[in-house]
Amino acid sequence: MVFSGIQPSGRLHIGNYVGAMKNMIALQDEYFCIYGIVDYHAMTVRFDPKEMEMSIFSAAVDYIAAGIDPEKSVLMLQSTVSEHTELAWILNTITPISWLSRVPTFKEKSKENPDYVHMGLFDYPALMAADIILYKAHVVPVGDDQVAHLELTREIVRRFNSYFGQTFPEPEAKLGEISRILGLDGVNKMSKSLGNCIYLDETKEEIWKKLSTAVTDTNRKKRNDPGNPDICNIFTMHKAFSKQEDIEHCAHGCRTAGIGCLDCKKILLDNMYKELEPIQNKQKELRNKKDYIYEVLRDGKKRAKQIAQKTMDEVYEKIGIDSYHK
Ligand code: ADP
Repeated sequence: MVFSGIQPSGRLHIGNYVGAMKNMIALQDEYFCIYGIVDYHAMTVRFDPKEMEMSIFSAAVDYIAAGIDPEKSVLMLQSTVSEHTELAWILNTITPISWLSRVPTFKEKSKENPDYVHMGLFDYPALMAADIILYKAHVVPVGDDQVAHLELTREIVRRFNSYFGQTFPEPEAKLGEISRILGLDGVNKMSKSLGNCIYLDETKEEIWKKLSTAVTDTNRKKRNDPGNPDICNIFTMHKAFSKQEDIEHCAHGCRTAGIGCLDCKKILLDNMYKELEPIQNKQKELRNKKDYIYEVLRDGKKRAKQIAQKTMDEVYEKIGIDSYHK
């Protein structure tokens, strides 16, 4: 069983796509997969309720357009399966505060928004643990920023199993070949909240505007200076989007100053857009199929809930309240 989630907190960017979605798509052929639009997680930062419905709709469109197939996998909205928060509460009762306070995301986000540090943000990893183990998932395709959270999930699982008896498997992160894409600044992780992204639905012109000024190897000051592709974010993107021949050409050209950064970026633009164009066509088509998207999420809710209820029955039994739940 596979579980992964993406927050409906804005358009998907190529970091989400390369770091998590490509693996999520590939795993569908091998495993039964449940993919969540995790709206409760998106509520751990300040949000506008007027935008929530549309954000969830776009996340569903993006998932399907990129290749999540609702015939093969379950695509569901987290808040429609109430077992996620029920299990999260039980996990809350066994998760020490000290474990949650060392999570890097909490520290980063509270620094970003010092006036908006509340329980939901602090407790996010316990809900994430519930999301995953509710379906007894073994495999969780994510980018490398989620590894610390997943390690915490494993610790929570070990504690639950030791307190109440073997119940949940310890899930493992499945990282993509490229598990972290930096933003256009070349320093921070590409992230919706930092706005340093290339989005999946941008036109070729819009992408070029961003790529042409994106940071490369900062030691390469002039066109004739040789560069180091190993420390260049554009080269990392090449590894995600370009074929081997172009990757080798750009690496060699950069090291020997045979090509400039702009030449290298132009090749990347063509390759990236070749992959994004069919996704964008599908996005346009799906945005007009409102009924279909809602139906996919209703069906996902039904299928996810069946599994979730079974797990919760087992949990109630393990914690001694099952006779009141029959
Ligand atoms: P964001 O960090 O942009 O808010 P999410 O938290 O919704 O995105 O992350 C969804 C998935 O995308 C997670 O598995 C996460 O690890 C992955 N991801 C997000 N940003 C990146 C990135 N820059 N590089 C690689 N993977 C990423």
